[in-house]
Amino acid sequence: MAKINENYLKLPGSYLFSEIAKRAAKFQSEHPNTKIIRLGIGDVTRPLPQVCIDAMKYAADEMGSVETFRGYGPEQGYSFLRDKIAEYNYKRRGLDISADEIFISDGSKCDCGNIQEIFSTDCRIAIADPVYPVYLDTNVMAGRTGYLQADGHFDGVTYLPCTVENNFSPEPPTNKVDMIYLCSPNNPTGTTLDKTALENWIAYAKENDAVILFDAAYAAYITEKNIPRSIYEIDGARDVAIEFRSFSKTAGFTGTRCGYIVIPKNLTGTTSSGERIPFGKLWARRHTTKFNGTSYITQRGAAAIYSDEGQAQVKTLIDYYLENAKIIRESLTAAGFTVYGGVNAPYIWLKTPEDIPSSWDFFDKLLREKNIIGTPGVGFGTCGEGFFRLTSFNSRENTIEACNRIKE
Ligand SMILES: *Cc1c(COP(=O)(O)O)cnc(C)c1O
Repeated sequence: MAKINENYLKLPGSYLFSEIAKRAAKFQSEHPNTKIIRLGIGDVTRPLPQVCIDAMKYAADEMGSVETFRGYGPEQGYSFLRDKIAEYNYKRRGLDISADEIFISDGSKCDCGNIQEIFSTDCRIAIADPVYPVYLDTNVMAGRTGYLQADGHFDGVTYLPCTVENNFSPEPPTNKVDMIYLCSPNNPTGTTLDKTALENWIAYAKENDAVILFDAAYAAYITEKNIPRSIYEIDGARDVAIEFRSFSKTAGFTGTRCGYIVIPKNLTGTTSSGERIPFGKLWARRHTTKFNGTSYITQRGAAAIYSDEGQAQVKTLIDYYLENAKIIRESLTAAGFTVYGGVNAPYIWLKTPEDIPSSWDFFDKLLREKNIIGTPGVGFGTCGEGFFRLTSFNSRENTIEACNRIKE
């Protein structure tokens, strides 16, 4: 009898984006001539930087000639890419991360989802609320949680509330956990963790022999000088933290697929007999067994952003979205909304008005009256109720039009 992994049955259907699509389609069919503007998408829309296009075309030509053809590459990623990442994102910022601590992948979603495999199923997890759903769902699948309760929480999970009161900065819990998922800048709140917050987390991790899983997918959007772009900017992080990065939001690679993970060599976990084992060794074993490398062409495209020209093109791309974010932020504020995020992130997190507190009711109202689609905050966790996410990933034109509609 082929029994299934029943942990999968603990997961509710992926209700959020299908429900948004359903409501949008219904409204459009009833109002066929209305132009709906979508500020709900968590996907980039601008074309790839020219340096990436040129590098990938060149690499494609290399694949077409017997002298320069490449088959399987190193599973951990080509050193031409790992060396550049170590240099640009870490060494140049004074951070002690070397190329052999970097593992290239086909994107951060897989890394964020797969990392839990190298931890014991006994490990207790802590997850920010609201946040990117991948961390929780993959732990449910792995059996690291109990069942979903009526209050919207899974048994056995420590939720870290991110609220107005704590500036959307999750605080270390009073109980003991082993794996802590943090995301800064955060999706969906668009807010960041400052140096003090990260120092507190590192102190907690050291005290409790826990590991911080730090998702920095939006690091490139940080504009404020005092906000850490990497957790390794904090003393002691090398002993307790794994970092996830992606080219998706940095360089428009959501459809091209490239990301990476940093596991410092001295980061260890313990066996049941108390022996310390480096997590990097386990991840290398996993990666070489289950993954055969990101395509050569893609890695060439990713490496191209690490030049003066590449960095300038990436900055232009990010500045475009950040200008959209600024326009949304200012327009909403002028219209009387309370807004968060949008300064160091492509996401604006707005408080729903007092007369329509429910995220879904606000969704319906915005769709009906302004023909704008956003994402109900409650879809990212129970603490997201009463909030709404707008993204800056649309065109300038549509962003301005949406803002004008809101201001009217
Ligand atoms: C988009 C995103 C990622 C990256 O996804 P990719 O698989 O690299 O495209 C990771 N974490 C968060 C929070 C994200 O929003």
